[in-house]
Amino acid sequence: MLALVLTGAAQRENAAEIEKAPADRRIAAALQQISAKNIQANIEKLVSFRTRSTVSAQDPASIAAGHGIGAAREWIKAEFERYSKECSGCLEVKIDTFTEQPADRIPKATEITNVYAVLKGTDTENAKRIVLVTGHYDSRNSDILDVNGDAPGANDDGSGTAVSLECARVLSKLKFPATIIFLTVAGEEQGLNGSLHFAKMAKEQGWNLEAVLNNDIVGGDKSPEQDHSVVRVFSEGLPSAATEQDIRRIRSLGGENDSGSRQLARYVAQVGRTYDAGVKPVMIFRLDRYLRGGDHYAFNQQGFSAARFTEFREDFHHQHQNVRTENGIEYGDLPKFVDYDYVARVARLNAAALAELASAPAPPANVHLLTKDLENDSTLTWEASPGGRAREYEVLWRDTTSPEWEYVQKVGGAMRATLKLSKDNVIFAVRAVDADGHRSLPVVPLPQR
Ligand SMILES: [Zn+2]
Repeated sequence: MLALVLTGAAQRENAAEIEKAPADRRIAAALQQISAKNIQANIEKLVSFRTRSTVSAQDPASIAAGHGIGAAREWIKAEFERYSKECSGCLEVKIDTFTEQPADRIPKATEITNVYAVLKGTDTENAKRIVLVTGHYDSRNSDILDVNGDAPGANDDGSGTAVSLECARVLSKLKFPATIIFLTVAGEEQGLNGSLHFAKMAKEQGWNLEAVLNNDIVGGDKSPEQDHSVVRVFSEGLPSAATEQDIRRIRSLGGENDSGSRQLARYVAQVGRTYDAGVKPVMIFRLDRYLRGGDHYAFNQQGFSAARFTEFREDFHHQHQNVRTENGIEYGDLPKFVDYDYVARVARLNAAALAELASAPAPPANVHLLTKDLENDSTLTWEASPGGRAREYEVLWRDTTSPEWEYVQKVGGAMRATLKLSKDNVIFAVRAVDADGHRSLPVVPLPQR
């Protein structure tokens, strides 16, 4: 194994390389196929079911009448199947159905169904790696138990459902070494029931789920104060699944800003600079907004890296409200408040991140920082990126106070590097890069004595 020694002078000169990640022309062309018109049609279709409350009707008669969550579920499934037909059956369309027993927000035993499409990776080993995009297709109005009243849910979360659908339609025309799952879940408003079930299934079945992108309220509500140029990307700091031992290590090393979810958020920020999606990700270093939760948390709880995309400024009159006008204020989550071009831009950002992640090699394995001796140099070691697609590795680092990776040093095919830089002063990570410049998620080293 080759040991690379880098000098201090090289440390900052290469910083720009992180900014200049090469765009994949194939991915850039695919982003152009994402259509605001399709997204509008899909959101309007979802709204046409009048309510998608998880406790609304799902019997055959209601499905036939196009009313309730059962009708919405069948339509989503048919839509995924239509995309699959267009790519010669490249998508495997599946459902994950289970019965939730009565609880706070579930008055009687209720069948909950997640609908998803799998674009299997083309490389046998890398196909075991999965990246996933999700939105919730259930909706609600003022009364969480209302089974009949209108709950249009155009923004919350017709918009996120439309992102999953449109990403599936467009990305299914390409091939990737790793697997992409396009998921739509139910039960979010009832208590993340659908995503909890799905994330547990992924954990129990040992899925190598590298990243989860959750889109919830990405409609770009047309309030005067909205900023349509940005989308918020929320990520947890301290991992929800951290053990006591993990928390002790995080505390002693200043690792509270380096969860897998935060690496994913930084990855999205980088993708947002490489591809012009028309909307810029703004990282929010927080699990979620005050008083609110979302499906990414269900994945976080099972130890997966997950981030949440949400429009910059929400209008709470247009969420979780019966449709009505009171004192001149319009309430309700109606299509007319949704900016379809904005949803399309958010879909482009998601598609770019999914495509980059699914094109990239697996992250390097067993990344360590040697801490046996008191010394001012820093030595990192790692094992090859599983799956054999890495051509080279890069060591990243940043000041402890910096939100994003600032500096990069290429180390070729080496699996060990010594930098003339004190580990006490910076945070390191290692990532794998393939022959075309696709970068893996970075891995922050564990200390090794
Ligand atoms: Zn929501």
